[in-house]
Amino acid sequence: MSRVLIVEDEAHIAQGLRFNLESEGHAVEVDGDGEAALRRVLQLRQPFDAVVLDVMLPGKDGFEVVAELREAKNYVPVLMLTARGRPEDVLKGFAAGADDYLPKPFELAILLARLQGLLRRTQWSRAGDGPPHITPVGSAAQDSSGDFGTFAFAGKTVNFRELELQTLGNTIHLTVMEAELLRHLIRNAGKTVSRKSILEEVWGLHEDTDTRAIDNFVVRLRRYVEEDPAKPRHLLTVRGVGYRFVPEPDQESSGKDGKSNDVQ
Ligand code: CA
Repeated sequence: MSRVLIVEDEAHIAQGLRFNLESEGHAVEVDGDGEAALRRVLQLRQPFDAVVLDVMLPGKDGFEVVAELREAKNYVPVLMLTARGRPEDVLKGFAAGADDYLPKPFELAILLARLQGLLRRTQWSRAGDGPPHITPVGSAAQDSSGDFGTFAFAGKTVNFRELELQTLGNTIHLTVMEAELLRHLIRNAGKTVSRKSILEEVWGLHEDTDTRAIDNFVVRLRRYVEEDPAKPRHLLTVRGVGYRFVPEPDQESSGKDGKSNDVQ
């Protein structure tokens, strides 16, 4: 059983969601505005496994709510409900720290599937399979699904289950979306990954979306992984195409250097 908070002012939608989530066996709370939701999560410290957050709310909107949660270092997975036909809302939501989104009106089955995806992440991290394995530099520890649970490079370790990036003396918490983008780049280490493939494979966006949101995400990831984010060595821009992740820049630059012209 998971605890889910629904933040939605339209009572019929909130009650419909509550009914269906409860019949799936979840414990559900409902708040009709952003302030009440923030109070419940941050002040009353009620723990939730996921939050379904509508963008259009009286008072503080969904963007402000998720941004305040993240500022308060609360990383509960957030599924945002956006207005259909407003892809800029999706990007704004991701930039504010949302983990996934669904345009309204949504199909209930889709919402339940998306929510299940976010809850699985929380359950993994609570499964308590011990402290993260420290893997050799630039290598990945495979989990039973064949995917890697941790990845170590240049003195940093990404733990995809805990959604944490450990650097020297610092632990940075990643949102699900940040971790998924990093995982996609790491999986394709050394190769150029196009913005289009990030939109489709990481975020499931197929429409012609403004790709600047990706650039904003990369700017954030650079703050986490680069010594000097203005002069990135791991997350390189490939002009006009996308990005390339380089785990060990020193090793790479000593080898073939033919592609250095198209990166910055
Ligand atoms: Ca609403």
